[in-house]
Amino acid sequence: MELNGRARPAEPFDRLDTLTPAALRRWWTKRLRGVLETAMSELPFYRSRFGAAGFDAKEFRSLDDLRRLPTFRKRDMLGRQAELQSHALGIERRADGRVGDTLTVSSGTSGTTFLTVNPRWRRRQGRSSARAHWWAGFRPGSPFVISAPAWHAYAAIQPYLAEFFDAPCVVVSGTYLPRYADRIVDALRRFRPRYVTMFLPMVFPILAAARRMGLEPRALFDRAEVLLVTGAPITAGMERHLKEMTGVGRIAEVAGATEGVLAVSCTERSGLHVVPDTCYVEALDPQTREPVPAGRRGSMVHCFLIPEGSVYLRYDTEDVITRDDSPCACGLPSPRIKIVGRWEASFRLGGETVVAYDVQLALEEAVPETVGMPFVISREGLNCGKLRLLMPEPEARAAALAERIVAALAERFGAGGEVAWVRELPLQFKGVAPVLSETQVG
Ligand SMILES: [Zn+2]
Repeated sequence: MELNGRARPAEPFDRLDTLTPAALRRWWTKRLRGVLETAMSELPFYRSRFGAAGFDAKEFRSLDDLRRLPTFRKRDMLGRQAELQSHALGIERRADGRVGDTLTVSSGTSGTTFLTVNPRWRRRQGRSSARAHWWAGFRPGSPFVISAPAWHAYAAIQPYLAEFFDAPCVVVSGTYLPRYADRIVDALRRFRPRYVTMFLPMVFPILAAARRMGLEPRALFDRAEVLLVTGAPITAGMERHLKEMTGVGRIAEVAGATEGVLAVSCTERSGLHVVPDTCYVEALDPQTREPVPAGRRGSMVHCFLIPEGSVYLRYDTEDVITRDDSPCACGLPSPRIKIVGRWEASFRLGGETVVAYDVQLALEEAVPETVGMPFVISREGLNCGKLRLLMPEPEARAAALAERIVAALAERFGAGGEVAWVRELPLQFKGVAPVLSETQVG
């Protein structure tokens, strides 16, 4: 809807959705000042960091003032854990002196950090997450199925979502691994949900499991109106492919970080709107630490805006993102981001820093039939400056397809490429095509 020349959301979640971008920036400034003041007065980690940086939260006047605060990363947290010999780092705000729950954040390759949540965190994060689901098209009163890992912070607010949407909500917890795909098939058949939330790499094992059970994949989603996927950035080609495979009319993408980032795609499908009551997100140049211009890639640095549980302020998740502040035709006022990968998984090719998402994008644009074909990027290939992809061999015309793939890769990346057909790829995909040593694939 247009009002005074500005699009307004057709169905706002609440008043926050109807603010202008400028009004949202004012709202964010006020909220951030409050969180910074709480951090300074109650959280030792920030008290010492703010002190060292000569920063006084009371003097926080605009979002640009955030630049005066140092950023920190997972390795800083791991270092502090070792120093303090504790999972608690002084960033945890607990409920009225009571001990909060502690959840594992992520094990990753670099180590494990922890997330503390408390009952107020659950309520406020629950409501913010309800906004995210609302944006994705979820509405009250219709059943939904969530397939998600039980150890993730998302699990802590699923009961809130079920109550908020006043709907039968089936949570298939802990079954996000492909080998359990048949359990999710069972849940989909039994509950025939209108809304489905799923880890993207699970969608394909589920469709394969359905076929093995003699079911037409579309029958699994016969009543589904929205498929909300997470865990990997989706390309336009992947979105079309998912629609075609499942028959679901709307594919929405949700992305974020356990430390308190949440963003969801809108109907315009040009990035993911930052959920403003969860976080404020910056895209910073990894070297200069200055904000990157729109469309350029930066490191994701965020402030968690719920001053409960573990409070992350200017935390660098080391994800590769772009940020777009231009007005969106859907009318939501928050900037849109796209998380395309992680710096640690990026590689150099033809003088450019590349993530696997770029390879997927190049392939789907030049060779559309590769959409939905999983692949692994060979570490050994990259070590020789070459893009060597391991892909499951198609039933027909493999040689011709390989030729087109190699030509497309050379055209886009200016680097040599090759395709090694394999019988099958390992199941432990997390996100888009990983870079793996071929010894891990065989
Ligand atoms: Zn939008």
